[in-house]
Amino acid sequence: MINYNSATALRSFLDEENLGMRKKFGQNFLINPQVRLSLVSALDAQVSDEVWEVGPGLGAMTALLLEKGLAVKAFEIDAGFIRILKRIFSQEKNFSLVEGDVMKTWSGQQSAPFLLGNLPYNVGAALLADLIEKGRTFSRIVVTVQKEVALRMSASAGSPDYSSFSVLCASAYKVKPLMVIRPSSFYPQPNVDSMGVLLEKRDEDAPPAVFFQLVRALFSSRRKTIKNNLSAFCASRFGSTAFCADILRENALTGMERAEDFPLEVFLSLAKTIENMRILNRDVNSGKHSKN
Ligand code: SAM
Repeated sequence: MINYNSATALRSFLDEENLGMRKKFGQNFLINPQVRLSLVSALDAQVSDEVWEVGPGLGAMTALLLEKGLAVKAFEIDAGFIRILKRIFSQEKNFSLVEGDVMKTWSGQQSAPFLLGNLPYNVGAALLADLIEKGRTFSRIVVTVQKEVALRMSASAGSPDYSSFSVLCASAYKVKPLMVIRPSSFYPQPNVDSMGVLLEKRDEDAPPAVFFQLVRALFSSRRKTIKNNLSAFCASRFGSTAFCADILRENALTGMERAEDFPLEVFLSLAKTIENMRILNRDVNSGKHSKN
């Protein structure tokens, strides 16, 4: 049995197994048992619920999830860790392993209601964005990410951390920061603070198809007005800026506002206006503006 709470014990284990830590896979083990318990408890999953665990490493969180009677599907990229995970958990009927890069493997897997991950810094935001954009939502997600990423996820309109990623997260989830996790809770210690974050699914319908592209476009030049960014979006998407004025008018906007001050509802409303224009079959693709 691995002692997941001790940096020294983990180092010896890795040496014995001839395993190295791969910086490019963001490998930092969570050695603080209280933090691990708090994260699993925040997930609030019940016996036999299915959980996706991203980046199980040597299985510190996996063991806790299985102890709770949950069915764990673990996504791991590191061949050395995969060997250890198979050795420890292959007899567990509630454990399955998906080998490889989660960014490539997740879409082939059946949905689960829960996701938990001490996500590698380089993958955390990209994976969450990909899941949301492709409409793969979970009832509850608990992740550990770099504090800076957590602040962007939970930022409100008007705050300096507010970004297209904040809007993306808010479109699918209520985002709640759980706790700051200091570098000393990890082995090896990262250079920055981390944060546990809970995402609870919102009951709303999925946003219109154009929503994600639109949000990104409206934040693309942060200091530019909404009119400038919307014109660039309409030009690239419809080959014309002819509809910008209508889109702004229908949303009671002057065009001088900035995306960083808009709450989620304004982005949704703008996306719905654009979607309706398409449904009303205005000739957006040719750039001709029909009054009918
Ligand atoms: N869950 C363990 C813990 O809390 O101690 C390890 C967390 S460590 C920060 C991140 C884990 O994600 C590592 O096991 C790493 O190999 C794995 N990983 C990194 N990139 C990945 C990817 N693209 N797909 C799947 N796993 C990945």
